[in-house]
Amino acid sequence: MAKLTVSDLDVRGKRVFMRVDYNVPMEEKDGQMVINDATRIKETLPTLRLLIDKGAKIILAAHLGRPKGKRESSMSLRPVAAQLSELIGRRVDFIDDCIGEKVEQAVAALESGDILLLENVRFYNEEEANDPVFAEKLAKLADIYVNDAFGAAHRAHASTEGIARAISKRGGKAAAGLLMERELKYLGEELNNPARPFVVILGGAKVSDKIKVIDTLLDKAETILIGGAMAYTFKLAQGLKVGKSLVEPDMVDVAKAALEKAKKRNVQFLIPTDNIVATPVKTDKLNKKGKPVIDLTNPRTNSDPNIPDMEEGVDIGPATAKKYAEVIKSAKTVLWNGPMGIFEDPRFSEGTITVARAVVEATQNNGAKTIIGGGDSVKALNKAKLGDKVTFMSTGGGASLEFLEGAVLPGVAALSEK
Ligand code: AMP
Repeated sequence: MAKLTVSDLDVRGKRVFMRVDYNVPMEEKDGQMVINDATRIKETLPTLRLLIDKGAKIILAAHLGRPKGKRESSMSLRPVAAQLSELIGRRVDFIDDCIGEKVEQAVAALESGDILLLENVRFYNEEEANDPVFAEKLAKLADIYVNDAFGAAHRAHASTEGIARAISKRGGKAAAGLLMERELKYLGEELNNPARPFVVILGGAKVSDKIKVIDTLLDKAETILIGGAMAYTFKLAQGLKVGKSLVEPDMVDVAKAALEKAKKRNVQFLIPTDNIVATPVKTDKLNKKGKPVIDLTNPRTNSDPNIPDMEEGVDIGPATAKKYAEVIKSAKTVLWNGPMGIFEDPRFSEGTITVARAVVEATQNNGAKTIIGGGDSVKALNKAKLGDKVTFMSTGGGASLEFLEGAVLPGVAALSEK
């Protein structure tokens, strides 16, 4: 059943507790924490503007980093208030706690259209424990709950789940924000009933991270294209050689089962026929974890499906990229999660870029709905300056994957029905 959204609510003069995802990357500069990327703050502006126009009193709550129940000045949300104020063009007050009398007083002083940002909810262990008493203390601050933090909706925490239940229990409404609504529409409704052909592109590091998604999508898609290191575990499952590529030997049986299922269901399941390979060489340098840094030297195209013994697969090869691009360009729905290679290194980003361009072409020339399932594929598209040329890019990493697997997200389940 459809969830209530912020557009359905009458919020005039009401106290609205809005959970947002302000877990922004920060860095210390001259003794101050500075925000490196404000995308997550910008994403909340449409819901905030709507609430301001409708005359709500807005209380914002979020987590930042992993303070593990302690006050950590480097993980304070204070810098976010200043940045949000600049972006939205109005005053944003900040209070250095998220529960208690001081906070209650600040909330009581709010006028319609005011915004108050609370301190990091994870300064309390009760947040992640979804402690009901703590959730009640948060719920006490508001009449209505709005969740716009899709990226945190897979966690049943006090500010994502407990508070929604507490407010609903006393007859208040719990609704999705506009960003959350878009996530549910594109990752949910659109993919439940996709225009066909429906092509899924999956890459990234591990089969184990994505096997549940693969299994779910094998019931829905016409074609699944596999790239990234994941492809080498599938190669192992097909009895091919993978050299020194990143593989998960304990996932070979699972990969075999997926290949079997694809055959039974008549799903076209493609793995790379050629690859970019490089020779890994140990250096004297150590990484942050104290392990030797490996240089990837002598990159070249390997046209054989088998990878030579001393080489590591680092990207899909040109023939594979061409084939994948053709399939993508004829799709009517595309879902993409995970890069085709080690795209952070420009020498191994060609496969990912070719796929990104094909996804854009499908959108523009074939009228396809193209949905990017969060994480590194979003980074890759943005890096290629193609982010605004696809239908939808998810803001969730883990949350998107769990949602695509078909899991019920606690933060979504707790919202009121329409
Ligand atoms: P994921 O978070 O599972 O989507 O994985 C993304 C990561 O997978 C990126 O950091 C890529 O560098 C990495 N990756 C993709 N292809 C390969 C590969 N062939 N070998 C090693 N790592 C890879």
